[in-house]
Amino acid sequence: MNWEHEIKSIKCPCGEGTIEKDTKSDDWGRYEESEPYIKCPKCNDKYKLITISYSSPFSWKGGNTAHFLVDKNIDLPVKYNNKYPRIDKYELQKTDFSHYLIVEYRLPDLIFCQNELNQKTSVASLKGLASKIAKDRKKYVGSAKINDIRSDVTIAVEEYNQFIVNREQLDEQEKLDKKAREEWEDKVRKNAILLDI
Ligand SMILES: [Zn+2]
Repeated sequence: MNWEHEIKSIKCPCGEGTIEKDTKSDDWGRYEESEPYIKCPKCNDKYKLITISYSSPFSWKGGNTAHFLVDKNIDLPVKYNNKYPRIDKYELQKTDFSHYLIVEYRLPDLIFCQNELNQKTSVASLKGLASKIAKDRKKYVGSAKINDIRSDVTIAVEEYNQFIVNREQLDEQEKLDKKAREEWEDKVRKNAILLDI
């Protein structure tokens, strides 16, 4: 398998050097691009390189990538909002199922589910969310007895607002993240030099 390298080169903003990008492709039509690099000491001191990638909703089209130079003196806003701690939901799923329910579901849904569990005596008769939680418990913890599910959901409801983070807060954070990311991109676009590379 032979990779064919191609170095693309453009002039840097000060004109004394270049900005280069290495792309490689092979006989099978595979194609890889590396990050561009600034081959000019002056511009390397003055600018930082920022790459923004967009994935296309149509997977066969891949996505596109834009490279920018931003003056290092420009303060860019934070890209992520860290109001609440981030948590590994998939780890919690296996090790602490009752608290996993807190980060996965909203409180009203858990209360609804708790009411259903209090009226049922067998897992087979569960519906909707309660039934889904039973299946998840079986999958991640290895068992799904109705008393255990009831106890997990009760803990989740009682400790909902004391746990390090809950689903309602994570939903809020997701909105804040989206806004922070938009503001960051907006500021990059307004202040950056778009590289034709
Ligand atoms: Zn330069």
